[in-house]
Amino acid sequence: MLKLREKGKPIRVAVSGVAGRMGRAVAQSVSAESDMELVLAVDRSQAGTPLRELIGPEVADLGVEDKLGLGLDRVEADVMVDFTHPGAAAEHAMSALKRHVAAVVGTSGLSDQDHRDIAAACREFGTPAMIVPNFAVGAVLLMRVAGMAAKWMPNVELVEMHHDGKADAPSGTSMLTAELIADARGKIDPTKPTAVVKVPDVRGGEHLGVRIHSVRLPGLLAHQVVLLGGKGETLSIRHDSLDRSSFMEGVKIAIREVWNLSGLTVGLETILFAAD
Ligand code: NAD
Repeated sequence: MLKLREKGKPIRVAVSGVAGRMGRAVAQSVSAESDMELVLAVDRSQAGTPLRELIGPEVADLGVEDKLGLGLDRVEADVMVDFTHPGAAAEHAMSALKRHVAAVVGTSGLSDQDHRDIAAACREFGTPAMIVPNFAVGAVLLMRVAGMAAKWMPNVELVEMHHDGKADAPSGTSMLTAELIADARGKIDPTKPTAVVKVPDVRGGEHLGVRIHSVRLPGLLAHQVVLLGGKGETLSIRHDSLDRSSFMEGVKIAIREVWNLSGLTVGLETILFAAD
């Protein structure tokens, strides 16, 4: 993290999507930390609104701006955190990286091409980035445990459940969980095909051979169940984010650690399990 520690100053953080549910929570969390300083607040809605009017007196005295690049040209920032929309997040990351501002992307639903573009920008500008499908430490543990369990119980299906305002499906977390399971489980005897399917897609969609079922309902926040089936037994591993505060510890870990990494890092695992 050498860039930041050497200076011995707070980490200067720009938040993109600051008027959204996650962006507001990030602005509050950053403002509450003595080693972080909120220096830029960006959102395409609410431009011109004082941030304190939008969030409360605890956040920095900034106005909401609508253009990330223009803001980053004006203020000095170390880390840009993005919680916006899958259609905008990669461009925001690139905008930060080319200005030597590390990018922490929490927005889910980025494409493989977005990942490749961000990785290339990290190399070109020598600036690190993280794409984190789920900042909740419990969800990261669930993914880790799911990988371990799938080695011994390879028949797995995932049920991910989110609020009905979520733009993408399946969730980034379930995609990454499926990838970890596919890596860990080796060859499997596939479950028997369903002979009669009366409702299209009722058996869910497949990612790398792992079936995922996406539920969207008001009242939910972010939940995932990994169901593993074996001979005469099942195992269920469940994680629930009950409140957006569940994501904030992970966001702060990423802000503090991103400059310790190089290139593009996907997920918090590299940091949380660094000592393993
Ligand atoms: P939200 O709709 O409440 O907020 C998104 C904000 O981004 C809005 O204020 C919107 O105006 C702004 N925005 C959209 N496009 C923009 C652009 N081009 N430029 C500037 N601002 C723009 O959504 P949310 O619930 O805060 O979630 C945001 C994203 O974070 C979603 O993709 C969601 O799935 C993801 N998410 C990730 C995690 C995680 O742990 N990684 C946790 C929760 C949510």
